[in-house]
Amino acid sequence: MALQNFDMNYGAQFGSLWPSIRIGLLSEQKYGALVNNFSHVGRISQDLRSLNAVDFVYESQKAALHVPWDSPVEQVRSEETAPEETRNEQLSVEKTQTPPLLSTSISPNIKCYTFSRGNISRFPPSRPDTSGILGYYLLDAASLLPVLVLNVQPGDLVLDLCAAPGGKTLALLQTGCCRQLAANDISASRVSRLRKVLDSYVPKAVGSNVRLTSWDGRNWGELERDTYNRVLVDVPCTTDRHSVMEEDNNIFHRLRMKERQMLPMLQMQLLLAGLLAAQPGGEVVYSTCSLSQLQNECVVERAVELAEIQFNISVHVEDLSYFRSVFQDTFSFFKDCRLGELVLPHLTANFGPMYFCKLRREQ
Ligand code: SAM
Repeated sequence: MALQNFDMNYGAQFGSLWPSIRIGLLSEQKYGALVNNFSHVGRISQDLRSLNAVDFVYESQKAALHVPWDSPVEQVRSEETAPEETRNEQLSVEKTQTPPLLSTSISPNIKCYTFSRGNISRFPPSRPDTSGILGYYLLDAASLLPVLVLNVQPGDLVLDLCAAPGGKTLALLQTGCCRQLAANDISASRVSRLRKVLDSYVPKAVGSNVRLTSWDGRNWGELERDTYNRVLVDVPCTTDRHSVMEEDNNIFHRLRMKERQMLPMLQMQLLLAGLLAAQPGGEVVYSTCSLSQLQNECVVERAVELAEIQFNISVHVEDLSYFRSVFQDTFSFFKDCRLGELVLPHLTANFGPMYFCKLRREQ
């Protein structure tokens, strides 16, 4: 059902690109290893490099700047000679390694290792260190892009409106910038999974800055209006890769037709709630793991329109072409998005799909 639907809709949407996207969707997905800054960063990074993986966040920014700066190998050496208790201080040392120009527009301190284009190696599962904390989290590396583009700054109040199972929440915490992080998901069982992820990756002191809730995100405008500096709205969608590969919990099951048809409405309401929850001047990132224009650009357009008409809030949609050019060596981007950016699955870089769009609330 999913494939039939995609062949019809995406065939028209992507034209001659569709056959190669389709093969990507039906083939094994590539992962990235998000380094846990609360673990033994130096040792973990070195282990990942010994597998021939590279930190795509670091390498992409370095390449985009074309300026020489300290190599990761040198960073690791200095960390390894330091005693274990100073690991948290090293976290702040590593902050200074963020490339200078782009550090103003990309969330800092996120390290994620991937295998190069065409290399389909897989990462072994992460093992706990002596304190029981895991060294890295495996995820679709494209799902870090919404977090990177959110541009979290030190002291920010951050809301993750649809947070479970928690890959992006964990990435937000890796920035070391969130004064407070509100992580919400309507599903209580999925919030339990998120809590387990946090327990396995972050020390209790950091976890205590995270407020976990299980509310309907659509009501956030009434619950906490004009509050947050940064809001991530990573909405439920047709999860295209999952839908063509897994029977379990498939949104294309005939019993879920109504729910599927209502998705764009739900997505639009969640984005609107995210915009209301942001402070004037605050930044909001909308994201999905679907290729569907109806769930991506159309939702953004409609939410911006309604924010203006119903709430007298004007919203600026940011041009992300600079961001695309920084990460184009790692991901295969669609060149023709009207708003936001879309990572297309491709056999040589089989990440995504991942759509993300950044909005700034003007007043
Ligand atoms: N951000 C998560 C991550 O990176 O691991 C993935 C989020 S997943 C794409 C979408 C989530 O939205 C699901 O966990 C689902 O339970 C949640 N959701 C669905 N409807 C919601 C609502 N009305 N309010 C809040 N969360 C909702």
